[in-house]
Amino acid sequence: MIDTNSYKRLAKRLNKTRKTLSEACQELNISIDDVDDYDLDQHIQECSHCGVWGDNHRQDEDNFPICRLCFDLVGR
Ligand SMILES: [Zn+2]
Repeated sequence: MIDTNSYKRLAKRLNKTRKTLSEACQELNISIDDVDDYDLDQHIQECSHCGVWGDNHRQDEDNFPICRLCFDLVGR
């Protein structure tokens, strides 16, 4: 397990990028095995359409996170 601070650092590193989680973990010297998907979700989410990370994603009709840009494209 990693602490909240590490999740915040990860979120900051990923925000508005299309980095993979493993890239961000490597840069921050965090073991990806210690990252809990659910906990990370509380800080940042990856758009299920274009893959960009953001902290204010909405949800599409299937309840997947979706960024503002894709949300507008889907037209909801
Ligand atoms: Zn998107």
